[in-house]
Amino acid sequence: MQWNQTADPVAFDLPELPYALDALEPYLSQETLEYHWGKHHRGYVSRLNDLVQGSELEGLPLEEVIKRSKGATFNNAAQAWNHAFYWKCLAPSARNRPHGRSAAAIDERFGSFDAMRSLFTRTAVGKFGSGWVWLARNAEGALLVEATDDAGTPLVQGHTPLLVCDVWEHAYYIDYRNDRTGYVDAFWRIVDWECVERNFAASESHRDDERGG
Ligand code: MN
Repeated sequence: MQWNQTADPVAFDLPELPYALDALEPYLSQETLEYHWGKHHRGYVSRLNDLVQGSELEGLPLEEVIKRSKGATFNNAAQAWNHAFYWKCLAPSARNRPHGRSAAAIDERFGSFDAMRSLFTRTAVGKFGSGWVWLARNAEGALLVEATDDAGTPLVQGHTPLLVCDVWEHAYYIDYRNDRTGYVDAFWRIVDWECVERNFAASESHRDDERGG
C-alpha cells in the first residue's frame, strides 16, 4: 500500500476515499462517511502528525511507526493505517463473493466461503467493546479470522491483512444505532473482493521474495 507524503516530510496525509461519500448507500450513509472518514479518520492522522513531529519516529513509513511505537502514537498510527485499509476493502456494487486464488484459499482453510463468513460475522458481533475483525494470513501463510482490541492491528504480529471490518460504534451508530449485527450484514454487501484478491496476491509475492524465489 502506498502512503502519500506531503511536501512536509513529517506529515501523513488523510488518504482520499476511493469512491464518493454517498457511494456506499444504502449500506453506509453519506453522513456516516462524513463523520467516520472526515472526522474520526482525519483526527487520527492529525494527532499522529502532532505526535511524530520532532520525535525519533519522524520521517519513518507508517508501518514502521506502528511497529516502533506504544501508547498514543501507536494508537493514532494504527488507527490511521486500519482506516485507510478499511476504506479500500469496501466498494459500491461489489460482487458478493470472493474469486480467484483468495477464494480457493478460503475454501481450503474454512471449508467454504459461507463458513468463513459465518465465523467472521460471529467474531464481529461478539467482539466486546471497540476493535476490528480481520481476515489475515499468518507468517506461515495460513488464513485466519482474528479480532483486535481498540487500535490493534495484525501487522504487529507479522500477519498480512486481507480484509477488515471496523466494529467501533462510530462505524455504524448513525445508520444502525446499537445494531452491530445489521451493520455487519450490510458490510458483506459492500466488501471489495477484488481488493481481497489483490491483497492475497501481494502477500504471495512477498512470501516468494522472502524465500528468495
Ligand atoms: Mn473507525
